[in-house]
Amino acid sequence: MPEGEFWNPEVELLSGEEIRSLQLRRLRAVLERCGNSPFYREWFREAGFDPARVSSLDDLRALPFMDKETLRGGDPRRFLTVPLEEVVRLHSSSGTTGQATVVFHTARDIDAWTELVARCMYMTGVRRSDVFQNMMGYGLFTGGLGFHYAAERIGALVIPAGSGNSKRQIQLMRDFGTTVIHVIPSYALYLLDVFRELGLDPRRDTSLRIAFIGAEPHTESLRRRLEEAYGIKAYNSYGLSEMSGPGVAFECPFQEGMHVWEDSFILEVIDPETLEPVPEGEEGELVFTTLHREGMPLLRYRTHDLARVFPEPCRCGRAHRRISRIKGRTDDMFIVKGVNVFPMQVERVLLGILGVGSNYRIVLETVDNRDEMRVQVEVSGDLWHGEVKELSQLRRRIAQELRNEILVTPVVELVEPGSLPAGEGKAVRVVDMRDHARGE
Ligand code: ADP
Ligand code: ZN
Repeated sequence: MPEGEFWNPEVELLSGEEIRSLQLRRLRAVLERCGNSPFYREWFREAGFDPARVSSLDDLRALPFMDKETLRGGDPRRFLTVPLEEVVRLHSSSGTTGQATVVFHTARDIDAWTELVARCMYMTGVRRSDVFQNMMGYGLFTGGLGFHYAAERIGALVIPAGSGNSKRQIQLMRDFGTTVIHVIPSYALYLLDVFRELGLDPRRDTSLRIAFIGAEPHTESLRRRLEEAYGIKAYNSYGLSEMSGPGVAFECPFQEGMHVWEDSFILEVIDPETLEPVPEGEEGELVFTTLHREGMPLLRYRTHDLARVFPEPCRCGRAHRRISRIKGRTDDMFIVKGVNVFPMQVERVLLGILGVGSNYRIVLETVDNRDEMRVQVEVSGDLWHGEVKELSQLRRRIAQELRNEILVTPVVELVEPGSLPAGEGKAVRVVDMRDHARGE
């Protein structure tokens, strides 16, 4: 059990150069293993790629990219580089953008993944004395078990609460003195209304000090709201089932971008149109190659997630490069009245305005053959029961600030707190009911 600031100082404190040489060593081993998989043998052959001749990280660029479509295109067992007997578990993606994809893990894969997530949690200050309530879905979704195992490895007391059942979540926090939670950010915001309904204030009535928030895009404004309302530090956690799940990139105590664990992943950032690398520091699509997975390695996997790399070294001393907050998936962008909009641009505006409550939704419609963007916004409890004049002022202000940000004037509809659908999983921010979206 490490005592200091670092879970795995040897790896966390590698210099940039040491990381690159470790990556090359591991990459060569991964490519060699890939020879056991019928898929990769064919993949290499088609690309005229000889894994034995890889002598630099750049040589990887001779391979084509993979993405969800590659995984969906047949039996996932064809990616295996070990006999099926060695596989001990499978997980799948959430299926946010279509058919869910499956990833197989050996016992060593689960162990390596557990180490990665433990490293993340420990980095933010989680210790054996903590009580960790895991409010993520257990099961096929990777968020639940990934954190569960890691927290146990640190030695914290784990409450495997799972998602949903808000009142019981709050009860558990109070009964067992929960100090750390793992939660979907839109749900954490929603839960604040439930605290209020019960006449409770999380700052006063719980022992919470840390939250891990991830699984969906969210803004700095949302993080700040959670930190203030709960009286905690909220750390951004990024991962995807195809890269095992959480533990791919994580914020350190400085909260200035998420460190990508480069001993376990090779990160590339590409222009999603040209597929060429973007200059360091510019926004692009994240592409990962697994270096720590023996059962089912993935090479040059396109995430469709947009972010940029912070090239400067981090004050925490780790040279593992950091990425910005995820702006969204390339397919989250919608076009309305000819303008490109990301839901997070809307969130940033909304959550910066006093009086805006915990939930919002963007509805796109066709009205008189034209696009219309309707933004439904829950208002805070006080305001809802207050003066009509204040509500219409708020409505005008939201419309104006959104126009300034996205250059489209939306129809703003203020709704009662708690009236918009709030699921237990990833929030659905955009509902597209336009004729063309419905195939008409
Ligand atoms: P699916 O891709 O079907 O949603 P996953 O459960 O594997 O299935 O989710 C991974 C995806 O969730 C990522 O590719 C990314 O789009 C999103 N995601 C995960 N963590 C974050 C985060 N911290 N910020 C923004 N988006 C995130
Ligand atoms: Zn750092």
